[in-house]
Amino acid sequence: MKKVFLFSVVLVALSGCQKDHYDVIISQAKLYDGLGNAPIVTDVGIRADTIAFIGDLSGAAAPIIIDAKGLALAPGFIDAHSHHDRGMFGIRDMPACVSQGITTIVVGQDGGSEFPLSNFFKEIEATPVAVNVASYSGHNTLRDSVIIGNYQRVSSQAEIEQMKQMLRLDMEAGALGLSTGLEYDPGIFSDPAEVIELAKVAAEFNGRYISHIRSEDRYFWKAIDEIINIGKVTQMPVQISHTKLAMKSIWGQSEQLIKKLDSARAAGINLTADIYPYTYWSSTMTVLFPERNFKDRKEAEFALSELTTPEGLLIGNYSPDTSYIGKTLAEVSALRKTDAPKTLMDLIAEVESKNGDESIITTSMAEQDLATIMKWPYAGICSDGSGVGRHPRGYGAFSRVMRSYVRESKILTMEEAIRKMTSLTADNLGIRKRGRIAVGQFADLVLFDPEKISDQATPEKPQLPSVGISNVWVNGKEVFAMGKTTKVYPGKIIRREK
Ligand SMILES: [Zn+2]
Repeated sequence: MKKVFLFSVVLVALSGCQKDHYDVIISQAKLYDGLGNAPIVTDVGIRADTIAFIGDLSGAAAPIIIDAKGLALAPGFIDAHSHHDRGMFGIRDMPACVSQGITTIVVGQDGGSEFPLSNFFKEIEATPVAVNVASYSGHNTLRDSVIIGNYQRVSSQAEIEQMKQMLRLDMEAGALGLSTGLEYDPGIFSDPAEVIELAKVAAEFNGRYISHIRSEDRYFWKAIDEIINIGKVTQMPVQISHTKLAMKSIWGQSEQLIKKLDSARAAGINLTADIYPYTYWSSTMTVLFPERNFKDRKEAEFALSELTTPEGLLIGNYSPDTSYIGKTLAEVSALRKTDAPKTLMDLIAEVESKNGDESIITTSMAEQDLATIMKWPYAGICSDGSGVGRHPRGYGAFSRVMRSYVRESKILTMEEAIRKMTSLTADNLGIRKRGRIAVGQFADLVLFDPEKISDQATPEKPQLPSVGISNVWVNGKEVFAMGKTTKVYPGKIIRREK
């Protein structure tokens, strides 16, 4: 009798073990599903790379059980417009990403991508990093390799055909679609017809289009029309990158922008956006001159009154004289004893003559516009940053949204902010198995303290990690815990889904 009883206990334990065994159990977390629903307190079981169970796991076993009482659990954040692939293979633990909860980066942005993508993907497979990587194929990259010599012109039909062929290769390798950076060289010299021809190739592959639009200031509305038209002609999803109204005379027009975007959507165009939570951008001095007339004093004066101010223009990098780094144009202007427009023109001339590097961080946007765009239900969050850049967005964009827009100004609820960082972006990219907490989804997860999550990075100290993030998992493996990266590299390539 006693023997039989013992035997049955063992059987129950064994079968229980098989049914209820998990690699990780996250217990009693406040779970945000990523879809914008109100949170529920529950347990989550991870098995291998997948979310295996959601619900009461109080009787279940796992080698790792995390007591998550008081903490929020969300799907890992997806960085919709990212440059975190810069220097990625030298910083495979990706501290800038995982310390703010990012588990997937979407690169190949602004028209710049690795070519061919098949090689880039092979490299990642050989040397994976801590986060997942998806990529677009970049128009500027294609244009750069096809146009020989003077690129300040429209492409010939033969050149367009070559670009289309290269784009096809990238689409076959798994590119999400075509990205453009139409404010940058050499894309700025393309005409809309060239972009449409290429976009049609991405559409043939069921791809999508994402764009740093042709102008974020002087020709803003025309640039918005261009991307809407691309969505209309190709019938594929189109997304405006790091949406901004970056000129004083168009500040306050964000409501009008949203109306325009909504009416495009109502007309059947799958138009979405992404945005980062700062009123200052980071790029080059030359981007202030769309006609590339760097010696035109009137243009310099316009840039320094309409697009920014000498005090609002911070030098991020300047190879001809590194002592200027961290100074504003106003400060450099005082040092050089030349007025601000002349200083700007001279700095560009010097960097061009020395074939050097420069970057600036420029205050150009109004907080009210940022808030209006951020509230748009189709605007996801991006960092536009990297782990090696001078702009604090590389380390702080996502945690800053939580601090500033959720906790402080209450512009977004926590569940809505999380939706914008997860399922919305996954939907905008056509990724089905990430971006939400549900059984069968990949276990990309972030556990954080909703009262403490915050950015710390500033333009002066752009690499200060965020605070309040407790643990981060990518494909079921812990990549961040106790304030440190774990030096495991479970990130996968995310190829375009059919
Ligand atoms: Zn951009």
